[in-house]
Amino acid sequence: MNVKHALLSASSAHRWISCPPSALLSKKFEDVSSSFAQEGTDAHALAQYKIEKLLGISTKDPTESLSFYDEEMKSHAEDYAYFVLEQVEKAKETCADPQVLIEQKLDFSRYVPEGYGHVDCLIIADGTLTVIDYKYGLGIKVSSERNPQMFCYALGGLALFDGIYDIENVNLVIYQPRRENISEYSISKSELIQWAEEVLSPTAQLAIKGDGEYKAGEHCQFCKAKATCRKRAEYNLELAKYDFELPATLDNEEISSILTKVDQLVSWASDVKEYALKEALNGTKFEGFKLVAGRSNRKYTDESAVVDVVIAAGKDPYEKKLLGITAMTALLGKKTFEEILGGLTFKPSGKPVLVTADDKRPEFNSAYEDFNEN
Ligand code: SF4
Repeated sequence: MNVKHALLSASSAHRWISCPPSALLSKKFEDVSSSFAQEGTDAHALAQYKIEKLLGISTKDPTESLSFYDEEMKSHAEDYAYFVLEQVEKAKETCADPQVLIEQKLDFSRYVPEGYGHVDCLIIADGTLTVIDYKYGLGIKVSSERNPQMFCYALGGLALFDGIYDIENVNLVIYQPRRENISEYSISKSELIQWAEEVLSPTAQLAIKGDGEYKAGEHCQFCKAKATCRKRAEYNLELAKYDFELPATLDNEEISSILTKVDQLVSWASDVKEYALKEALNGTKFEGFKLVAGRSNRKYTDESAVVDVVIAAGKDPYEKKLLGITAMTALLGKKTFEEILGGLTFKPSGKPVLVTADDKRPEFNSAYEDFNEN
């Protein structure tokens, strides 16, 4: 599907609000569609079908046309559809006739020139407008708290229904099943409109003209200019200053300061490498570098011939492996899995990782010795 993106779209709002000139700069770069994007499109089509089926809306099963369909996608789409249904039931507690819109185009051009986007689910009821965004990605956990994308959808929802329904509050929900994340945030309609008038609208006016300050940060990872943007390079290269500092070793304060930027530094460095490889494959020469064939492993030329030959040699060419939890759940069904295997599973604690202090996970308490036993 060839989707036309608005220059100042809801989905890129976090980026262009943080760095207004990035909107026009990004226009110079071609759209690159990825397999992750196609997987997301498939997951949304399936989720839409599951919700419409549950709501008794006439719909068509898209399964056969989905390239990335699997049991995991199906199971998440079903859980999500039930989640949406629960939200609809909740809305019915305060409103006799809530409306549910799925994959609805929303227009927030009152605040952003040509601003529009497609929301996954909108539940309109007296009292509360609920915006739900289904994020199928496995990447970063996304919070709905003061999330500009969700704010834009809510403004689009208000443009359509404020006046028809008596809306006082907006409830924003991000449903991200593969990160076990359901993030909810509420804001009053008046506070949302104040943000739209004081932040969104003036920033959109800068962005549409390419004005405003370049500002690098986490939002750069979704920018099409990310590999060659000078501002991002300067921001990341600031780290180099540590090369020249005395004394010879870094103190803990300096290490903390590096840790806060290191993920972005790694992500920027890999964006630059990926860009340079693509350019080199297109014939660009970078001084001091050349293209070579990477490492590779030996492969069979004909797997069925290998099987025949090994069996003829009196050996078994196959290994027998226990199905993993996802495949076993697909084999047995969720309910049976829980009944017969629920007591035979456990969740080991994950390997310790160092994260920023504002991370919501509880602090890892295990004793230092646990990791240093001989
Ligand atoms: S890479 Fe970052 S700093 Fe550069 S234009 Fe994009 S968002 Fe702005």
